[in-house]
Amino acid sequence: PETQEAPFRAGTVAVLGRPNVGKSTLVNALVGAKVSIVSPRPQTTRHRLLGIATFPAGQLLLVDTPGIHREQKRAMNRMMNRAARGAVEGVDAAALVIEAGRWTEEDGLAYAALHSAGVPVVLVVNKVDKLADKTALLPFIAQITHEREFASVHPVSAMKSKGLDALVKDLLFLMPESPPHYGEDEITDRSERFLAGELVREQLMLRLGEELPYSTTVEIEKFEEDGELLRIAAVVWVEREGQKPIVIGKGGERLKAISTSARIGMEKLFGRKVFLETWCRVREGWSDDEAALRRFGYSD
Ligand code: GDP
Ligand code: MG
Repeated sequence: PETQEAPFRAGTVAVLGRPNVGKSTLVNALVGAKVSIVSPRPQTTRHRLLGIATFPAGQLLLVDTPGIHREQKRAMNRMMNRAARGAVEGVDAAALVIEAGRWTEEDGLAYAALHSAGVPVVLVVNKVDKLADKTALLPFIAQITHEREFASVHPVSAMKSKGLDALVKDLLFLMPESPPHYGEDEITDRSERFLAGELVREQLMLRLGEELPYSTTVEIEKFEEDGELLRIAAVVWVEREGQKPIVIGKGGERLKAISTSARIGMEKLFGRKVFLETWCRVREGWSDDEAALRRFGYSD
């Protein structure tokens, strides 16, 4: 007897939630590559970015967003909020990511906004690996889902890739029947040049003290193919002269470590050898200067 194959499905999923709940980690786990940088600090993601995850049954276009947050003072934060809000326009579903055991007022507001916009919401309860008391999970979920309508609820660990198969299945189910939008080897809508800059910025988030990462940004000055090799030059921009020695470190050691780790990340992501040069320069007040932000690629 003939078997009827399920139709291919493809569509867009906005990945939303508070800063630091694991949105980018989830997108990377679903895509199977680090397209979006991750750090323990809030506001690591500064741009809207598409992660493309292709499965036998369909394709998910995952919109990773800067977390929605309240601070509106600086131009950069205004742009980040615009990018997060714009992310729900025209999507087929939203994945609302929360941290297991924590439901905040902001989570409630995000749910309400999505629900009233008519977007199906899949609740992703992330970081279940961190829960000391696993028996608390079901009552926690019961409390949140009481009087709220979720398309489905998935306890997962994005970091350990647990619970993701069932999540993918339910997300695909919410997508329209459609041929794939991207080739199956495509993993993001961003250029390698952009991803290179992000991988340098990830190291700044990981290796600089409390406030400084938020005063830095990265510009890729050169991105050239030289046979099998990629030759890349990155500038780390800081806001004040006094921040330069901190980025560079004693005897240049910190900048060297930043550069080495970023290069390793690039080689893994691009699948080829990279020669990376990294410089640190000053541009006063770049994070509150919309013209400078656009030049650094913060256009959405
Ligand atoms: P985002 O701001 O929502 O994009 O969060 P990130 O993806 O940048 O992750 C924030 C922090 O949470 C990072 O330190 C991640 O390693 C960590 N994280 C993300 N997912 C998990 C998880 O499933 N379990 C644990 N224990 N940590 C996670
Ligand atoms: Mg992120």
